Amino acid sequence: MIIAANWKMNLSREQALHHLTRSSQLDIHHAPGHQSVFFVPACYFGMAEEILSSAGAIGWGGQDCHQDEAGAFTGDISADMLLGFGCGWALIGHSERRQYHFETDRQIAHKTAHALKKGLRVVLCVGESLADRQAGNNDAVISGQLDTVLVYLAEQSVSTANLVIAYEPVWAIGTGNVASLAQIDDMHGHIRDVLDSAAQAGTDNPILYGGSVNETNGAEIFSLGSVGGALVGGASLDAEKFASLCTISQQK
Ligand code: PEP
Repeated sequence: MIIAANWKMNLSREQALHHLTRSSQLDIHHAPGHQSVFFVPACYFGMAEEILSSAGAIGWGGQDCHQDEAGAFTGDISADMLLGFGCGWALIGHSERRQYHFETDRQIAHKTAHALKKGLRVVLCVGESLADRQAGNNDAVISGQLDTVLVYLAEQSVSTANLVIAYEPVWAIGTGNVASLAQIDDMHGHIRDVLDSAAQAGTDNPILYGGSVNETNGAEIFSLGSVGGALVGGASLDAEKFASLCTISQQK
């Protein structure tokens, strides 16, 4: 299973140092078959590299990655910058990037293609709004978000081997309103169908669930065969709590 921490714009320098140092010492993050990933703010890439590079299998990455090589894009981060700090991962298309930075499916497709071409593993976030869910449009919204990326990757002949999908219903992120097991299982099944019918079928891309996952609800979510891990916001900010969640995922 992949358990990924999305710190967003949280933790002071001291808190980040404590978290990464403590996490690097916890055996749970080094267990065979388990992958922990820390999506840290860009200003902590150097810290993550220094602490985690000697800690074996723990991954770290950026919360975004621009689609261009370099240039006049104030405030943005390139794939080469991530790679320069040992990042192996990029988080792309998070609903907060879609909402506050007005990222479109097309732009997310370009970012995903660029990051994959550069050799990064990409966690691509998809998710429907509450209004979409209430109107019964959830499957169509997710298909639309995914297809735009998959079609573009096929056009560009970019392999999907390093693509991980995170299903994150927008109404469940940071709200405490976790999706029901049936909603998660149904949507993961739908995403698997969309992946399988894409031009580049055949790779067994993991599908993570994200949205108010914590130590209380983790066990039942991880018990679903369709769930390949979790993308975790709030419950990832404390090293011990995040490690507990990783422990729970390994007890599946
Ligand atoms: C997220 O930010 O991707 C997320 C799932 O947040 P939370 O776990 O806090 O809902």
